[in-house]
Amino acid sequence: MNLRHDKIAPDQFFFKCTNCGDEIEISLQDFIRDKLPQILGIESEKLVLAYKKGNLKFYQNRFITALQFRKTVGKIESGTMISLHDEIDVVRGFPKIRRTLMLGDTLKSHFSKEIAVEEKMNGYNVRIAFINSEIVAFTRGGYVCPYTTKKAPKIMDLTSFFQDYPDLIICGEMLGTDNPYVSHYYPEIGKLGFRIFDLREKLTGKPLSIPKKGEILDKYELPAVKLLGMYSVDDPSQILELVKKLGEDGREGVVMKDPQMDIAPLKYTSSQAHDDELIYAFKFPFDLGKAFFFSRVIREGFQSYEMKESNEEMKDRAQRLGESILYPMIETIRTVAAGEVAGEDLIMDADNQQEVEEFLRHLRDLGVIAVALKYEDGKAVIRRVHQSTTDKISNYLEGGLY
Ligand code: ATP
Ligand code: MG
Repeated sequence: MNLRHDKIAPDQFFFKCTNCGDEIEISLQDFIRDKLPQILGIESEKLVLAYKKGNLKFYQNRFITALQFRKTVGKIESGTMISLHDEIDVVRGFPKIRRTLMLGDTLKSHFSKEIAVEEKMNGYNVRIAFINSEIVAFTRGGYVCPYTTKKAPKIMDLTSFFQDYPDLIICGEMLGTDNPYVSHYYPEIGKLGFRIFDLREKLTGKPLSIPKKGEILDKYELPAVKLLGMYSVDDPSQILELVKKLGEDGREGVVMKDPQMDIAPLKYTSSQAHDDELIYAFKFPFDLGKAFFFSRVIREGFQSYEMKESNEEMKDRAQRLGESILYPMIETIRTVAAGEVAGEDLIMDADNQQEVEEFLRHLRDLGVIAVALKYEDGKAVIRRVHQSTTDKISNYLEGGLY
């Protein structure tokens, strides 16, 4: 199908089908009811209902005119985008990666014989696709990130890859300290970098096998996450050892993958990564504490058990865990007591003030409260404010009851 839109307005959206010779016009509603089900292979009623409920939304900005899946609908992942340009282009969402708590037992039951163990890098998930003759970067939820869209093609040369493979999407992690979503230091990355972990078919989301992915990334000299090795499912001890070592180096963990990518990958993370997330969450206890807390503690319990820790090792883990919760919280209480807000400062490159404004608007779309603190020498400092934490702590400091 080859559709071309004439007018851009959510209620009255017309396409012309130039495929069949006859030019037909179709409204957005009719497109969702009659055409989209064929394209995605999903029942019309589900899509119509999703549109009514706002789980499937019209989305438009300077990069794209599209439909955005805000929630999962049938087999279609949230974050899936249907680009409505000269050609209808589908960019499937990035599927959730489940976690194992007991590595050894899960490996055997989940995978077949051998697994590819890749490093899990800590940044933010990005899908890069070639749409309407442009390279566009999407966040997990399907929003076009103006910052990543600008930066990704500067970090790596994507032109020849997309010339040869316009129907693939690049799934990767934006990394580094000057990264306005998740700032984490990696010696090999520094301020900003990108690592690719999957190549997937646009329409189906089907990933290429590990060898095929490696071959293509090599050929186009594109940066891949580290393949730490191929392991047998019968010997989890080596992988546990690997994760321990990664943690000691301040790194997050691993993603384990079926070499053919026929089985869904699994993730497993280091104790230090759990602590880092708790430190972050308890800097803003009333915004993030609850959502982060329980699952990190559970992970620590199972990891300690599976690693058959000595009393000494257990004590070390317990101490790190406790400090990761209490210290950041006490620091924030001090901050608020001194009359400041509980917030985090993020750094981003920007060529001008408008770029900063556009990024702030994008953050607002994502539901994040943020303000630009300063803009100087091509760098902006953005403060993300954690309002509940600020308000509640102030209230308790003034004697409010809990
Ligand atoms: P999810 O919905 O996938 O659980 P999450 O926000 O909880 O998302 P994480 O716990 O960070 O995310 O784990 C999954 C994410 O890890 C992926 O979405 C991807 O962005 C990231 N990632 C980093 N390295 C890899 C890798 N080698 N393979 C796959 N994903 C990776
Ligand atoms: Mg992550």
